[in-house]
Amino acid sequence: MQELVQSGHSGLIARGLGRSYGDSAVSRGGVLLQTTRNRFLAFDAESGRVTCEAGVTLEDIIHVAIPKGWFLPTTPGTKFVTVGGAIAADVHGKNHHRDGAWGEYLQRFSLLLADGSVIQCSPQVNQDVFWATVGGMGLTGIILEATIQLVQVPSAYVDVKQRRSRNLDEAFDLFIETDEKYKYSVAWIDCLSQGQELGRSVLLLGNDAPADMLRASGKHEPLFWPCKRSKSIPFAFPGLAMNKLAIKAFNGLYYHSHGNKNTFVDFDSYFYPLDSIHHWNRIYGKRGFVQYQALFPRECSREAMTTLLKMISKSGQASFLAVLKSSGVANQGILSYLFDGHTLALDFPYRGEKTDRLCRELDKVLLDFGGRVYLAKDALVNAETFSRMYPKLNEFKRIKQRLDPQSIFRSQQSDRVGITDVSSF
Ligand SMILES: Cc1cc2nc3c(=O)[nH]c(=O)nc-3n(C[C@H](O)[C@H](O)[C@H](O)COP(=O)(O)OP(=O)(O)OC[C@H]3O[C@@H](n4cnc5c(N)ncnc54)[C@H](O)[C@@H]3O)c2cc1C
Repeated sequence: MQELVQSGHSGLIARGLGRSYGDSAVSRGGVLLQTTRNRFLAFDAESGRVTCEAGVTLEDIIHVAIPKGWFLPTTPGTKFVTVGGAIAADVHGKNHHRDGAWGEYLQRFSLLLADGSVIQCSPQVNQDVFWATVGGMGLTGIILEATIQLVQVPSAYVDVKQRRSRNLDEAFDLFIETDEKYKYSVAWIDCLSQGQELGRSVLLLGNDAPADMLRASGKHEPLFWPCKRSKSIPFAFPGLAMNKLAIKAFNGLYYHSHGNKNTFVDFDSYFYPLDSIHHWNRIYGKRGFVQYQALFPRECSREAMTTLLKMISKSGQASFLAVLKSSGVANQGILSYLFDGHTLALDFPYRGEKTDRLCRELDKVLLDFGGRVYLAKDALVNAETFSRMYPKLNEFKRIKQRLDPQSIFRSQQSDRVGITDVSSF
């Protein structure tokens, strides 16, 4: 790998498990697969510190850590993500409002630079490179290995309160009321509902389930990780399967079948529901889908989300999955995504120009309300819009220019959003 980088081959980019939704791990010059670097280097079960190569996956860590009472400090909605990918996107989970993002638990990493040298980075050493790499989408170099601080958990279950809200206003009220009380929160939103029911939702609020409560309910091994058989979507569904009527019917069914209740849910089912269906993306047919994740500042997120949902509902382009989360203090990475507010992730079946147009319209709402899209989910945003969403872009570019003056590390995304200079390719 070092030789390839030193050869000055422009247009290289690291690739983990390819779970980013856009073109951040795709490059004309070639990709460097990180899944080959997948060894654990150390795990201290006393302190919960793990050191591993960047290709180790979150699933690998969970299998080692949970039996010892440790878990990931924050986790995205899939465990099929590498440590390198988690750092590069500064991923977040359902506990951002309380615990922040991945970068805050990252103690150090080693980074292969464009000139072939390897440096150590931490919040104390090469601090600027550290925070440019956290959330930097692979553009500062190749993360080789890293040390992460895990968090202690009493069990492998979440004590979940499921609550239904009749519209977006009620959902926001519930989030505000419960942010302090619950470590995890997420709402599934029916983005086709309209009028009085606009944004009706099912909220899943949760805390780590105490071991004694689990034992009392008959679960005698609280740290036991229940193994489930996964299903697989065998082929791409016909394009018409994901039409507005089908999504509307599904949304109605989901909303009405999820009433208020309290329950213990194992980590796999709570954090990673999609992981149990391999190739779930095939339900969108051969044209696939685009994911669009919108973030708005807390002071205007209610109004902004209402505007966004009205626009989507009117466009007739339904999102099958729409997930609302609360976010807390801003991430420290220079290009990291989240700040204090609310974020909504949407999946649109791809309909060519029609979908492109809708996303451009949504971008305008984001800009009007001081919001932004998430690089790990983005496939469409242009350079002008991106620069208005990320005010620290020039700071990032200066560090990138110092570390990688020839732009050896670049992706199709970095060219599209103007982080790297397309004319110099
Ligand atoms: C079902 C699903 C749910 C998701 N839910 C969430 C969520 O809740 N929160 C969230 O934050 N994200 C979420 N994501 C997005 C996902 O967590 C990120 O896109 C993550 O970066 C993917 O990691 P990966 O290993 O697949 O990396 P890839 O997708 O292969 O690459 C992502 C970026 O990381 C860079 N990279 C990878 N390895 C290295 C390395 N060793 N050194 C330097 N750069 C590297 C790549 O160059 C690229 O820019 C979700 C994705 C899916 C599919």
